Amino acid sequence: MTSFLLRDARLVDLDGSGTPDRPVDARIVAGRVAEVAPDLPPDGAPEVGAEGRWLMPGLWDQHVHLTQWSLTAARLDLAGARSAAQAVALVRDRLAEWPDLPVIGWGHRPTDWPEDPLVSTLDAIDTDQPVVLIAGDGHHGWLNSIALLTLALPSREGVVAEGEWFSAYARLATMLGDDGTGPEAILRTQEQAAALGVVGITDLEFAGGPDEWVSRWEAGAGLLQVRVAAYADGLGAVIERGLRTGDVLPGCDDRARMGPLKIISDGSLNTRTAWCSEPYAGPAPLGFPHGQPNQTPEELRHLLRRATEHGLDVAVHAIGDLAVGEALDAIADTGARGSIEHAQLVRRDDVRRMADLGVTASVQPAHLVDDRDATDRLWPDRGDRCFAFRWMLDDGVSLALGSDAPVAPLDPWLAVAAAVHRTVDGREPWYAEQAITLREALAASTAGLGTVAAGHPADLVLLDDDPLGSWGGRLPAPTVAATWVGGRLVHGGA
Ligand SMILES: [Zn+2]
Repeated sequence: MTSFLLRDARLVDLDGSGTPDRPVDARIVAGRVAEVAPDLPPDGAPEVGAEGRWLMPGLWDQHVHLTQWSLTAARLDLAGARSAAQAVALVRDRLAEWPDLPVIGWGHRPTDWPEDPLVSTLDAIDTDQPVVLIAGDGHHGWLNSIALLTLALPSREGVVAEGEWFSAYARLATMLGDDGTGPEAILRTQEQAAALGVVGITDLEFAGGPDEWVSRWEAGAGLLQVRVAAYADGLGAVIERGLRTGDVLPGCDDRARMGPLKIISDGSLNTRTAWCSEPYAGPAPLGFPHGQPNQTPEELRHLLRRATEHGLDVAVHAIGDLAVGEALDAIADTGARGSIEHAQLVRRDDVRRMADLGVTASVQPAHLVDDRDATDRLWPDRGDRCFAFRWMLDDGVSLALGSDAPVAPLDPWLAVAAAVHRTVDGREPWYAEQAITLREALAASTAGLGTVAAGHPADLVLLDDDPLGSWGGRLPAPTVAATWVGGRLVHGGA
């Protein structure tokens, strides 16, 4: 059913232009909002009673690694480990419980640990099983020698980082067999998102890409709007098939579309590889006091030019301020369109350039909660230029919020709360002057169309309370009564 008449819904005033005091009806025809007005005459389509609940456009998470997010639940959670010794204790517990399974852990953040994560520390655990511990920021793996051997990586004493890790990561699934990333698991994960009011995601998963989503769709695992990115190693195949950003993927319906070309131009804060104009505080264990770029300027421009010539937007991961500046230079030189992903640390002038160039800032507010201590330690002089939402909106940059799940949970309400309050854990707000309003944060978590109106896609969410009302952007979020994608009910029911 993609046509129905929704009765008695209050409109959430997302664009701030005022909405009717009394509930209205919304006529949904073939997956689109055809009419919004009080007391619409029936047209034979089924009627759904909203009973005065609040209607707004559905939420988007613009930065997700969906396969990894699906896997996260099955993984050993190391986010709470405060030292290598604590992480090892958790690994030992898991092996005592399941001695015949490899240990895949996730979430450790060794920046603040008293000791470095070393291969020999994991080798001291008495097991024949591979142990693979994936850092909370995704930028390195801490492996035991058996895992290094299994993944055909040279032996070493430290972690496997950046490019070497990303290609090893892609081989991890093969090592584990079908480990919960099949169509059923992917559908379940989308259903969980729909229960939070999510109607769409941009999937920036490292492996798989468009082909994987085509087979998921064939297997009946399609649910949400999905924009699927390709990486440089899959760019040739995408171009060969003539897929442009926005095109429906072959064999799928119009929910599954080609997304951007994703380019990882620098590293991360916690791994000290984000590329910065000023050096990190403290030692530089990897030998790059400023972090470093992953491509030469020529390589970056070549990729942007190739994508642009073939109708693809770009999504350039840039966390350090020098990486953001360089990405903007390259975008200006090549005429590329798209987004900077993360834009965690920015220079004031680069925010203005972002607006001038029409580049979207795709930022994940929950990271400001996770990274505030690491920032105070590693970038003690520049926290005021991190997650600069206020500057971005004041300068007219188009802002798109997301989670970077599994780095943070796939939960747009958490993103909104962090963007509005600059804290979600009871600590004092972190650089409160960069906060944005609840209305701004909600708008940045939708497709950008504003208050529900005729002509919009029927990607909608119905809430028990006004999200601009007493909720105030503090978790827990308002209850989601129903979510529709293209007029199909994907969660709940009114
Ligand atoms: Zn990411």
